[in-house]
Amino acid sequence: MIIDTHTHLFFEEDYQNYQKQAKSKVDLIITMHTTSYDIKHVFEFAENKKNVHVVAGINISKDLKKQLKNFTKYFLQNKIVGLKLYPGYQKFTPTDPRVSLFVELCQKYNKPLIIHSGDFYSPDGSAKYKYSHPIFIDELAVNYPKCNFIISHFAFPYMLEAAGIVYKNKNVYTDISGIIKDFQDKKNIENQTKQLIKDLQRVFTYYPTIKNKVMMGSDFSGQKTPYDTIQPYLKIFDKLYLAEEKEEVLYHLPKKLFFNPPSFT
Ligand SMILES: [Zn+2]
Repeated sequence: MIIDTHTHLFFEEDYQNYQKQAKSKVDLIITMHTTSYDIKHVFEFAENKKNVHVVAGINISKDLKKQLKNFTKYFLQNKIVGLKLYPGYQKFTPTDPRVSLFVELCQKYNKPLIIHSGDFYSPDGSAKYKYSHPIFIDELAVNYPKCNFIISHFAFPYMLEAAGIVYKNKNVYTDISGIIKDFQDKKNIENQTKQLIKDLQRVFTYYPTIKNKVMMGSDFSGQKTPYDTIQPYLKIFDKLYLAEEKEEVLYHLPKKLFFNPPSFT
């Protein structure tokens, strides 16, 4: 069983393309709502698909109380399986006091807080690395030991820094989504895949115990974006993990993080 823990699938056409490329290898898909798009449409899209689950994006500069109220409702209705922060795009650090409301909510419902880290999809260049560096997640994880945090995209290009933070904090995990980009050049995708395998080997040499805290994510966002490949991400796990290790990180770990019931029920 395989869970793709990080996609941005909102449209039927992209979903069909995803399925074609996944070749029935992916069993469950988590789609991350981006705050520029109305979450109601994401729910409509996911409604009749048993294999698609939604994570709600937080917009830190909009009405926080209203979002908190909505997210509580969505958690209770099992409409969402986590929350996501976009610090580099919305220009705040994960240690910003406004974030604490959402950390507490995730903690209460036993769901992860996903934090976009590292590189951007920012055609106008307005996003800022200063805010997407994983360093702030260390402090957040120390302050909230009962909440699980996921550093998206292994914080690429800050992989080694992210690895240190995942290693040090028992409540911090990561995924490899979005690192391999499709520039319409097959050879280039192959080279990126090989290089990412090498880079992960390097990281695992320094921090061997984090290997079981790294999840699969494709960041699939549709064929009009550079994030439209799935197989290279699966290949990486085939190359670096034994069968039973794979089962753990591709299925059991994300299942535990996203689908465990809240501890108070
Ligand atoms: Zn993403």
